[in-house]
Amino acid sequence: MRQSESLLPTLKEVPTDADIKSHQLLLRAGFIRQTASGVYSFLPLGKRVLRKVEEIVREEMEQIGANEMLMPALQPAELWRETGRWDVYGPELMRLKDRHDREFALGATHEEVITSLVRDEVKSYKKLPLTLFQIQTKFRDEKRPRFGLLRGREFVMKDAYSFHETYESLDITYNSMYQAYSNIFSRCGLNFRAVIADSGAMGGKDTHEFMALSDVGEDTIAYSDTSDYAANIEMAPVIASYTKEAVELAELQKVETADQKTMQDVADFLGHPLNKGLKTLMFKVDEKLVLVVTRGDHEVNDIKLKNLYQASIVELASEQETIDTLGAGFGSLGPVGVNGKVDVVADNAVEYVVNVSCGANENGYHYINANPGRDFEIDTYADLRFIQEGDELPEDQGIVKFARGIEVGQVFKLGDFYANKLGATFLDDRGKSNTMIMGCYGIGVSRTLASIVEQHHDESGITWPVQVAPFQVHLLTINAKKEEQKKLAEELYSSLKSLGIEVLYDDRKERAGVKFADSDLIGIPYRITVGKRADEGYVEFKLRENGEQSELHQSEIVNKIK
Ligand code: ATP
Ligand code: MG
Ligand code: MG
Ligand code: MG
Repeated sequence: MRQSESLLPTLKEVPTDADIKSHQLLLRAGFIRQTASGVYSFLPLGKRVLRKVEEIVREEMEQIGANEMLMPALQPAELWRETGRWDVYGPELMRLKDRHDREFALGATHEEVITSLVRDEVKSYKKLPLTLFQIQTKFRDEKRPRFGLLRGREFVMKDAYSFHETYESLDITYNSMYQAYSNIFSRCGLNFRAVIADSGAMGGKDTHEFMALSDVGEDTIAYSDTSDYAANIEMAPVIASYTKEAVELAELQKVETADQKTMQDVADFLGHPLNKGLKTLMFKVDEKLVLVVTRGDHEVNDIKLKNLYQASIVELASEQETIDTLGAGFGSLGPVGVNGKVDVVADNAVEYVVNVSCGANENGYHYINANPGRDFEIDTYADLRFIQEGDELPEDQGIVKFARGIEVGQVFKLGDFYANKLGATFLDDRGKSNTMIMGCYGIGVSRTLASIVEQHHDESGITWPVQVAPFQVHLLTINAKKEEQKKLAEELYSSLKSLGIEVLYDDRKERAGVKFADSDLIGIPYRITVGKRADEGYVEFKLRENGEQSELHQSEIVNKIK
């Protein structure tokens, strides 16, 4: 591509409304422009990187047998009503009406669409398992769109959905997705970690988030250097220490089934007013000890909590969806902070932990990065403690460290929630009708792009890993007016292109200093500068990443390019 013919508007100044490096650099280097809050245009360079990331995702999905398709962004409200999510999704779901006053949503996620489609098309076990995916624009009216592409209101997601006869079959697909995700993020050049996560509103069981490690990440992860342990600290209670006393205490209270209890009962039981700090309660359900943790510091709607509480006791997976503040798909919460989850505890003493974070903080967000003790008072009923840096993990799993992460992807075992609601059944080999078991798997493609920049830049600009770079080679002349330089550059431009190498050719009549600065900013991995020795066929060859440079004869160039 010739720079003179492209739209590549670089900026010298750091845009004032961009707080983090990826946002600043993508704007400055001319990859994106904001159209509205949280809504971006991808300029030619940005689109090329997006395509590269998409292609990596596509290859790895196809490698594990997933089929690409494309679903509509425009989704009828009726479908969302069938699962109950029209009412529960909250303001993050963009809603609109057509000319006949029929209601629609702009797809924030596609469980409804895909499940209804598969329900209509797949009737027999012979067609299962089945995994479908798409790469498509999603809409979420985020309360606080920020950090450029990291949290947009319109963004590109890869979402995959798998359908199964059995949970065992789901496990197999889940594991291969997990592996595919690891491949994708490695190929994108990301330093990442997969962590166990909160299955939240999706009501699933197992779920992992893939976190690109970065100080600007909105999540905190707890991990250990000496074992595989890694968790979103939203999952922190998982390793909280449940003491014998706590267990005895629960026995003592002889709370049998708690499913008729309301949050007020919990509060009464605890002798605490609601919404003040962290509270815990234990009771038994089906011979399993259940621990309820409530936390929050704001006024909340009792009804919601009541529902949440009840829901969390009964099959959390399905009932939880009735809480009208539980938000976004794929397990995240909406802008309002009510969160219910069941965590399986490693320690046999307590089989389930129901973690109810009630109320929202000042911005109306859930406690995504809440720091027990700092953000709310810890007032435990039993000896429950949240994980902290330096903690020793059980079973020789090592010492806990904390790091910040950007959630670039998430894999979920959904179970049968959507299939149940939408009636997605199949006939098994004995002709018996069963409900399908599902998994769903998301990757923020545009967020991944920004995360790469977050991890790959220096003071002069972006340093793209070659696999995702908009071009492999940036070709420029010191002085475009010098005939021999222009001639060699043109020659190289066409010969490299004919070898399938992607070249951005800065053919502008700018000063060399301007071209170099732009080139550093844009961050293409290999730079070829045609200068003084053009007549002898010699150029300067420079690696963007480490600044290494050498003089090469034009015939040697190709061997240097990956
Ligand atoms: P978050 O916790 O950051 O709000 P999420 O858990 O709501 O994300 P999912 O529902 O799991 O997101 O969606 C799948 C993927 O889509 C996420 O892992 C993330 O990479 C990406 N994603 C989600 N919301 C956004 C957004 N507003 N802008 C860009 N990418 C997003
Ligand atoms: Mg998620
Ligand atoms: Mg999330
Ligand atoms: Mg979200």
